[in-house]
Amino acid sequence: MTDRHPAIRLTGLTKEFGAVTAVDHVDLEIGAGEFFSMLGPSGSGKTTVLRLIAGFEQPTSGTIELFGEDVTRRAPFDRDVNTVFQDYALFPHMSVLENVAYGLRVRGIGRRERHERARRALASVRLEPYADRRPSQLSGGQRQRVALARATVVEPKVLLLDEPLGALDLKLREQMQVELKQIQRELGITFIFVTHDQEEALTLSDRVAVFHDGRIQQLGTPAELYERPTSRFVADFVGTSNLFDEDASVAVLGRKGTHSIRPEKLSVVAPDTAEPALRTARGTVVEAIYLGSGIRIVVDLDAGPRISVLEQNARGRLHDDQRGDRVLVAWHDDDVVELRADVPGGASVAYPLTGVSEAV
Ligand code: ADP
Ligand code: MG
Repeated sequence: MTDRHPAIRLTGLTKEFGAVTAVDHVDLEIGAGEFFSMLGPSGSGKTTVLRLIAGFEQPTSGTIELFGEDVTRRAPFDRDVNTVFQDYALFPHMSVLENVAYGLRVRGIGRRERHERARRALASVRLEPYADRRPSQLSGGQRQRVALARATVVEPKVLLLDEPLGALDLKLREQMQVELKQIQRELGITFIFVTHDQEEALTLSDRVAVFHDGRIQQLGTPAELYERPTSRFVADFVGTSNLFDEDASVAVLGRKGTHSIRPEKLSVVAPDTAEPALRTARGTVVEAIYLGSGIRIVVDLDAGPRISVLEQNARGRLHDDQRGDRVLVAWHDDDVVELRADVPGGASVAYPLTGVSEAV
């Protein structure tokens, strides 16, 4: 019965705090079993959407459905969702096992069953050997996994995660990203993941909604967002882009409108070696920055704009570009992305689930 409906359906969801509209007419469907991310800068309304879904806040208007049931007016404990927060706040005086079993205890489940289920949840995050330790005897990454086990032990249909990796250092975060993805796949439950880190969202998600000012600017798979951003905001926020305003579009690209090209789609070539299929523009090297795996070359085009080119540091790279060198920048016409205006104030864009393959 539940599989016919999306895990989450938000309709016209709006939340005002006094004069601030934190969430502005959001329409959204999230499929059962999806790893779905909400990505956006600080203050764009991501946490408020999560808190509305969890029931910690009441919407000003709009509805929230869980598997086809309207839960808008239901209390948090009466919704089949659970939340993992950034400051995972484990009980310091309890063992890892007791921490994980806590949610079962408050639900009145007997000691034997709750310990059995807590051990299984710990095994799913590969922490079973640590059951008897205190949280203070664990690393940051291990504590984060305990928080995850504590949230999943009650078997929610939807898990809400609000910047859960934000407190971890880079290496650990990358490691946890892989684990999180594996855990989600094994458990088969819907994850709604909030982050301001575009790389994290692209790495983990089946689909991503990009938020700005309480509205969804664009929704799509990571590849769609990266390859075909539809607005200036998304082109700029997801990865880096060279943006061409109307004048630069005409001068450099020979097109009307506004456009973007990713730095890695551009290359710096010797003036007489450009393939005929490529478009080119002349310019002067402003800076060549060595990045290890690549080289970023900043070029002032004669036609006006300053652009950034990302070259791979591959064998056979002939050029050693220097500041002041005259160069030719080349690109393929297919890699030019046309941008439309950002979603304007008050507008609502609906994203039905059509075309999304049902996750198992
Ligand atoms: P994000 O999680 O994307 O950083 P939030 O959802 O926390 O964004 O906040 C969205 C907007 O709503 C911000 O302008 C924030 O200041 C405001 N806001 C959030 N919670 C409250 C609150 N309890 N009272 C007043 N304003 C709030
Ligand atoms: Mg937040």
